[in-house]
This record gives sequence, C-alpha cells and structure tokens, in this order.
Amino acid sequence: MSSIVFATNNHHKLSELREIVGDRIEILSLADIGCHDDIPETADTLEGNALIKARHVSEKYGCDCFADDTGLMVDALGGEPGVYSARYAGPECDSRANVALLLDRMKDAADRSARFKTVIALELGGKEYVVEGKVEGKITEECCGESGFGYDPVFMPEGFDKTFAQMTDSEKNAVSHRGRATAELLKILFR
Ligand code: IMP
Repeated sequence: MSSIVFATNNHHKLSELREIVGDRIEILSLADIGCHDDIPETADTLEGNALIKARHVSEKYGCDCFADDTGLMVDALGGEPGVYSARYAGPECDSRANVALLLDRMKDAADRSARFKTVIALELGGKEYVVEGKVEGKITEECCGESGFGYDPVFMPEGFDKTFAQMTDSEKNAVSHRGRATAELLKILFR
C-alpha cells in the first residue's frame, strides 16, 4: 500500500500525521479525493465519531481510510469538554473562544490535571480497527506559545515545563495523544 486517506481537511492534523509517518506511506486528505462532504459528528463518544467519518468515506468513495476524533478531558470539570471539545463555547465558536471559556471555568481550580485522548478508526481491506492514544498533563493558567492548534497553548504534558504550543512539531508528536494513536495505526498498516 503506497497511500491511504485520512478523513480530515484539518491542515494541522494532516501535517502532524505526515510528519509522524514520514515517507512510509502517503497521507491523502479529503480534498485530495474530491470529498467536500460535511460529515456530521453526532455520536457521544470519540470512537463513535471517528467511526462515522471513516465509514462514510470508505463506503462512499470505496477506499481504505482512517479518521480521528480527539477530546480534552479536564478532571476539575468532570471530564469536560471531552467529546464536545470542538464546540465547547458553542457551535459557531473557534479555538480562541473554546480556550477562553476553558480558562474562565478553570480560574479557581486547584486541581488542573487533564488529558488528551485521540481515537483513530481505520477501514482497511473490508475490516475495521479502532486504536487510541492518550497523554496526561495539566491546564496552564494562561496561554503560552504560538505553535500547534486548538487547546495546545493551555496544555502542558506531564514531564515538561512548556505547553504543546511551545514545542516543536517533533517534540509534540513524540509524546502526544495523536502521535501515540498513530504509532498504533502504523503497527496495523505495516504488520
Ligand atoms: P476534533 O478531533 O477535530 O473533533 O477536535 C476536537 C477539538 O480538540 C477541537 O477544538 C480541536 O481544535 C482540539 N484538538 C484536537 N487535536 C488537538 C491537539 O492535538 N491539540 C490541541 N487541541 C486539539
């Protein structure tokens, strides 16, 4: 297999995946296969949403593909925003608004522990696989760093004194939820 479709048009996720897999396999985006569908993420779990996206693309376009869904679980907020991380501040809101709401809800929290979890659903040769990756860390009191995307400026992974947004791409990928989930994906693709 020389290429596989990643069911996303999120250029941050695409560039992370392409950096992680290197030249082992070509990662095609939805735009690359002419898919401009708005695939609704209506499940109430990360796994459910990843499966919806992967199944939609493999069924409609007849190709092997994988899809991811990611959530940030914050202990002091009872696991929120979790599966609703993309829409935390409302359906039309962007990452800046989501991060601002998170920092506001966390302003008096002593326990700042949190984790990112990525679930990847893979449709390969008529079979379905689900893998995941997690990273533990904490929510900072303010935004730090300019790299990355989403909640990266407020997430400091365990064992580091900088946020994902203060790391290089390869530093983040080495410990991140998506990096770990992708390592599991590669084990299936190349076994
Ligand atoms: P989704 O997987 O695209 O649904 O992402 C859910 C939410 O988590 C969105 O607000 C993303 O911006 C955010 N997100 C996903 N992956 C990451 C990451 O690696 N770092 C920071 N935020 C992320």
